[in-house]
Amino acid sequence: MSKLDLNRVPMPKQEPEDRARNYDEVALGYKEEHALAEANRCIQCKNRPCVEGCPVGVNIPEFILALRDGDMPEAVRALKAKNALPGICGRVCPQETQCEEVCTLAKKGATIAIGRLERYVADWELNHQNDSNPEVGPPTGKRVAVVGSGPAGLTIAADLAKRGYEVTILEALHVAGGVLTYGIPEFRMPKGIVQAEVDYVKSLGVEIKLDSVIGKISTVDELLEDSYGAVFLGTGAGLPMFLDIPGENLNGIYSANEFLTRINLMKAYLFPEYDTPIKVGKKVAVIGGGNVAMDAARCAVRLGASKVSIVYRRSRTELPARQEEAENAEEEGIVFKLLTNPVRFLGNEQGWVTGMECVEMELGEPDNSGRRRPIPKTGSEFIMDVDTVVVSLGTSPNPLVPTTTGGLDTTKKGTVVADEETGKTTKSGVWAGGDVVTGAATVISAMGAAKRAGASIDAYLRGK
Ligand SMILES: Cc1cc2nc3c(=O)[nH]c(=O)nc-3n(C[C@H](O)[C@H](O)[C@H](O)COP(=O)(O)OP(=O)(O)OC[C@H]3O[C@@H](n4cnc5c(N)ncnc54)[C@H](O)[C@@H]3O)c2cc1C
Repeated sequence: MSKLDLNRVPMPKQEPEDRARNYDEVALGYKEEHALAEANRCIQCKNRPCVEGCPVGVNIPEFILALRDGDMPEAVRALKAKNALPGICGRVCPQETQCEEVCTLAKKGATIAIGRLERYVADWELNHQNDSNPEVGPPTGKRVAVVGSGPAGLTIAADLAKRGYEVTILEALHVAGGVLTYGIPEFRMPKGIVQAEVDYVKSLGVEIKLDSVIGKISTVDELLEDSYGAVFLGTGAGLPMFLDIPGENLNGIYSANEFLTRINLMKAYLFPEYDTPIKVGKKVAVIGGGNVAMDAARCAVRLGASKVSIVYRRSRTELPARQEEAENAEEEGIVFKLLTNPVRFLGNEQGWVTGMECVEMELGEPDNSGRRRPIPKTGSEFIMDVDTVVVSLGTSPNPLVPTTTGGLDTTKKGTVVADEETGKTTKSGVWAGGDVVTGAATVISAMGAAKRAGASIDAYLRGK
């Protein structure tokens, strides 16, 4: 048996001082020699735990083997058999807690860089003429409406189109892609890649109707009456949560949703070429510790802020962001003010934020989330000088669809009630999956839920 190679090939990246001044992609992607070296480390083990670890069940050893053998069209085919969005997943999936975490080589501390290889294969396809189009089954003559074009909507649309359904995606915004388009910044998720994968879904025969807000232009009941045999809700969780503390309405305080949507969807980072203004001062505080907070903070750096702080009420151990993204943020000079919570904002006579009163926290016993509960330290209040604040505390689903759809149950948190295995909601003919069911989660979990719902809709419509 050949000796194990435990040297994981690092991802080439832009240097922090360069990338903090541009919006180009930070991670540059493997070159062929990197990809081959990494693919050669895979031992093609028999039990293939990585496949189990992938929420959409990608046949990982198969695509890595084809890549290693230089058969790139076959690598693309193996990858896309289960995943319609590999260029996206290869960039933003938390592989470290999924396929890579269970990799046989993880025990040796040298897990295969599956995400980087996935990205390499997806990017290869984008840059080459590849005729390995997937098979689309014979038409079933049945129609399915998908509400929302995020990862959940795109995945179920691709799966059902491949099974011969006529699928229409109805998207509220003027561009498809969901959070991948309006939330995650260009330097982490280039919009050209999102568009290419949206185009792939369209190439399977899926129609995408933009500017179509369901609940306004038509209701779910009207879609069901309008010859759609089933409706899938993949409307995400786009409603921001706030701190609800004094001064939160001052100018200069944004929700992360507004901040990132202006920058990414409305291209404020290209102002004045694009007509969207965004005012970012010199001292920016981003409240929260997730991927969204990291993205907002890194955008603030690129928009010229001289001091950007992440203000998070727990410790580094509980930080929900991907470790890689927190490290990237730190390399770009972002300061982490941990165990700190704002209690009120201070403003000037013109109504602009000038400061933030914070309290230091300590950690108590674990709460319902399993993480240690942050408790304020008495008498530890202090003022932080700020001129811009981005509140990034999480999001919940927009209530528009539930409030205009009779018989669709929701939870106290506003998420749609749906069976975990099938995605079936409490309303006949309606399925749901992704963030609208789980609350803000991940791209791949939304895709996994959409795949399960697609199988359930297929069984339902075939039985009809
Ligand atoms: C800034 C940011 C960074 C993130 N980073 C990561 C990351 O690194 N890795 C990761 O795995 N996850 C990340 N996430 C989370 C991830 O993006 C989401 O979990 C995922 O996009 C959810 O997919 P979805 O399809 O359920 O919903 P969404 O992506 O939210 O898509 C929902 C779509 O439905 C549309 N819609 C809503 N209501 C209606 C309506 N009434 N009619 C028609 N259309 C409607 C919306 O416009 C949207 O396009 C991040 C999220 C954000 C905000």
